[in-house]
Amino acid sequence: MRIYVSVDMEGLAGVGHAHQTHYGPTVDRADYDRSRALMAGEANAAIEAAFERGAREVVVNDSHWQMRNLRAEDLHEGARLLIGDKPLSMTQGVGDGPDGAFDGAAFIGYHAGAGNPTGVISHTYSSATVMEVRVNGVVHNEASLNAIRLGHFGVPVMLVAGDDALAAEIETVLPWAERVIVKRGLGYSLTDSLSPHDAAAAIRNGMGRAIERMGEMELHQPSLPLRGEMDVRLPVMADFAAVLPGVERIGPRTIGFEAPDGDSFYRLFVCLMRLAGVPAL
Ligand SMILES: [Zn+2]
Repeated sequence: MRIYVSVDMEGLAGVGHAHQTHYGPTVDRADYDRSRALMAGEANAAIEAAFERGAREVVVNDSHWQMRNLRAEDLHEGARLLIGDKPLSMTQGVGDGPDGAFDGAAFIGYHAGAGNPTGVISHTYSSATVMEVRVNGVVHNEASLNAIRLGHFGVPVMLVAGDDALAAEIETVLPWAERVIVKRGLGYSLTDSLSPHDAAAAIRNGMGRAIERMGEMELHQPSLPLRGEMDVRLPVMADFAAVLPGVERIGPRTIGFEAPDGDSFYRLFVCLMRLAGVPAL
């Protein structure tokens, strides 16, 4: 059994404010560095439970911000770490030949989609750019967008960990996945969180249940061709995204696109999301 673990930061226990998830000229680095340790703690809980339940290989994709948050030295022995610039972002490593074939995936530290009223740091890939993404008319968050590419390669999402707002979204769009709630969202920048110790225990238990229920897991494969719509923050962002041939401008701040399969859909989505982020504002 080979397990893929994609780890984000905003949905970790103990993280309640965006300033804990990055640093910069106006944001101190100390809180971010502590969040990196929290990230390793929850990732390790998933890795340990997978190995205990018979996984032969666990590949961890550092899926947050610049995608080099996890310190390799903090990671449970036996796991492999994808760290660096990721053309395929939060799904890097899936589908690249035999090494990209996995029996299941766990999403740790994930968060609710853009606009969720109570989800902690709710956003969809870029809070500066993306206001909402729909696939075949259904609103998608990061977990379900990533699940589309994983579904194309036959990899079911088995477990999603984050706050209660994320769990409610997952119940609708990936209902088979085991849901682990490590905190309650009380607003965009406020949470009532478990301790890291209790969050790790919940993830270990959840991973155990997910592996026991492996036969019930399904692939997220919406009907083809996939029709995507992305609302962006400003019209100039739609101007830039709509430059790509085949992309349609369907509103002042909305672009539409179509893809023949889940891999192409995700690739097109990350291109458009990145293009929309180009204008200097
Ligand atoms: Zn993130």
